[in-house]
Amino acid sequence: MNNQNKISSDSKIATAGLIFEEPVVFELGSPGRKAYSLPACDVPEIELETLLPADEIRGPIKELPELSELDVVRHYTRLSQWNFSIDTNFYPLGSCTMKYNPKINETLARLPGFAGHHPISSDDDSQGSLQLMFELQECLKEISGMDHVSLQPAAGAQGEFAGMLMIQAYHAAQGNPRKKVLLPDSAHGTNPASATLCGYKSVQIPSNSEGLIDIDKLEAFMDEETAAIMLTNPNTLGMFEKDILKITEIVHRKGGLVYCDGANLNAVMGIVKMGQMGIDVLHINLHKTFSTPHGGGGPGAGPVCIKNILEPYLPKPVVEKKGHKYILNYDRPESVGKLKVFNGNFGMLLRAYVYIRTLGPEGILEAAQSAVLNANYIRAKLKDTFHLPFTGASLHECVFNDKGQGITTMDFAKELIDHGFHPPTVYFPLIVKGALMIEPTETESKETLDMFIEAMKSIAKKGQEDPESFHDAPRLPKVSRPDEARAARQPILRWGGC
Ligand SMILES: *Cc1c(COP(=O)(O)O)cnc(C)c1O
Repeated sequence: MNNQNKISSDSKIATAGLIFEEPVVFELGSPGRKAYSLPACDVPEIELETLLPADEIRGPIKELPELSELDVVRHYTRLSQWNFSIDTNFYPLGSCTMKYNPKINETLARLPGFAGHHPISSDDDSQGSLQLMFELQECLKEISGMDHVSLQPAAGAQGEFAGMLMIQAYHAAQGNPRKKVLLPDSAHGTNPASATLCGYKSVQIPSNSEGLIDIDKLEAFMDEETAAIMLTNPNTLGMFEKDILKITEIVHRKGGLVYCDGANLNAVMGIVKMGQMGIDVLHINLHKTFSTPHGGGGPGAGPVCIKNILEPYLPKPVVEKKGHKYILNYDRPESVGKLKVFNGNFGMLLRAYVYIRTLGPEGILEAAQSAVLNANYIRAKLKDTFHLPFTGASLHECVFNDKGQGITTMDFAKELIDHGFHPPTVYFPLIVKGALMIEPTETESKETLDMFIEAMKSIAKKGQEDPESFHDAPRLPKVSRPDEARAARQPILRWGGC
């Protein structure tokens, strides 16, 4: 409780506005209190010990809280109010595309025919769900320009892993699985992790002074032991790899394949087709680009899209249409296997399908254009206040840093919370020292962007005048500056720290 905000701990009041103090659940309740009442038993009671072996029966749990339904509802509702969410305010977390998730997605995902459909029903009893998956695959093929799609991966990172497994299977079938994977130094950390999980050695290609892949270095590094390049387009600086055709040509010439991390598809959907740029594998984050809720660890959906040459290796089962019937095809002898129980996170697929069908081709294009417009509006308004390490054209996000500021990037992030904004992505991409990566997304209005721009400018001004005053920011939330690494690795979930 030593991280309590100043307002409540100094004055010992129980609330900050309408945000209440909240003890851990173990401190609540009272012995014998219950959240349920059952009718009297109408059959004789039998001791559990007579039914189960002793080692199957757990002992009593010490200090388990005993609570009423109201205790539980209020506790968790109050805790939920401590969270920042896209439904409460602007969330410009770069690379994560925290766009608003339209409520119609939620309404349709709750249709009883989908929500109550058992995942091990037969194909005959699952025609509606299979049709939806098949049509979503068709939509993603159209948007990406790729030949086949697997909806199974549960996250972008798993889509990458699936893609790299297919690349490895392809090279193995040519007689040599190869040893290395090339990665630009601006890559998201999941890229080298996926390559490493497949047993590949990651080789970093430095970016050039424009923040793009250095073509000469790529030429020098690319050889016949290199399985693939894993690039991101637009890259994590929000910039389009304008030499993409040259890059894919260099890699293909030596027999390598091109993996594209499509997490930033929000900037280019409806404008360019990755399949026409020489990309062989692409993953898409439905939970970013196609508005399914994310944050806090999931669930997500990271479909992987491929070219025909990789088709035999697709994860199984594959959703296919045979005549008028939709089926799950398990008869795939060269498949890299099954990645996820059942068919991945079906609820996410459904939400993405609703979003794509609601927008249609014109809406998808307009969303991308608006995302780029919003990011460039912020860039133009802040470029005289903040240093832009790379000055080339930005698409859907812009990356500033803290050069020349009176305070650090972390101070900006913390202070923004007191202004009611979620901080942008900070200290990423790693090639920008003190990076502040802002992605507004298309769903924000000019008024919201203007408020954010004003907040950034006023913090910068105060940072020059009184840098010391930032050390205790943020002052308004319940938790101010926790030890972030420890909070993630050793969360204290039980009172008493055990
Ligand atoms: C989010 C992201 C990923 C990883 O996606 P997850 O769904 O979080 O696993 C990979 N690359 C980039 C560029 C991303 O922004």
